[in-house]
Amino acid sequence: MRIIDTHIHFGNKKSCKDIVQKSLYKNVYKLYNSVNVTALSTFDDYVKNLEYFIVMPMVFKETDINQANNDIVKYFSDDLRAVPVLFVPNDKDFNNNIRIMKYNILKEHFLVHDYNNYKARSFGYQYLSDNQGFLILHSLSTISKKYIETLRSEFSNMNIIVAHLGRNGQCDENFTKDMIDFGSKDDRIYTDISTISNKKLIKYAVNMYGDDRIFFGSDYPYFSGDIPPVEEQALILEEIGLSDEQRNKILYLNAKKMIKKLKIR
Ligand SMILES: [Zn+2]
Repeated sequence: MRIIDTHIHFGNKKSCKDIVQKSLYKNVYKLYNSVNVTALSTFDDYVKNLEYFIVMPMVFKETDINQANNDIVKYFSDDLRAVPVLFVPNDKDFNNNIRIMKYNILKEHFLVHDYNNYKARSFGYQYLSDNQGFLILHSLSTISKKYIETLRSEFSNMNIIVAHLGRNGQCDENFTKDMIDFGSKDDRIYTDISTISNKKLIKYAVNMYGDDRIFFGSDYPYFSGDIPPVEEQALILEEIGLSDEQRNKILYLNAKKMIKKLKIR
């Protein structure tokens, strides 16, 4: 089975460990196995069976965006299987990294980016819009919809990948369905199934989005024991009645098509 993982996190082991040990939120971080940072030691092992992977910084409330971006550039700019994804920087930090890397994909997360302050990041969104690029973001609450609508209208050529089918922290079924309804209506919005083990939701997402705008992702190394790794999520796709062709699209082909468009020449 050919696999492209579109949602992997990577961080400098030492700085992640420091954050986790000193953080006010260390009990929250303990929910993830990344907390002992040993998960990062398995990185090479995890990616070895992937044809390509899309890799972004680890994210903690304390993460320094520029430092995290520098780490990603340092580790992955020469890796032929990796698509390195930087955090959207503030305009004042919009730096050479993004232009040197020449990838039109960026990531934001509510832990390090404030919705109310999106105008301070206009350069990043404009860059994506100018290059028909992709923004990966997470939804958090009902304000996510309004926020996404704002970005869509102001940066109209930017594509958006709503991570985790748009679930909230509790993976509430109705909330997630509502986000699926919302995202699927806009053909510049995509989604990934990372961290979703609810079969009903995955089936619902395929019905609404169709099988072209859904990607496989693992959220490595954030998945915890009860969340399926690659093989199990592949099995879910089979169990909900998808054909081999549909599974191949979600696990591999859709991402392959997108990756072709991510490098600016
Ligand atoms: Zn993630």
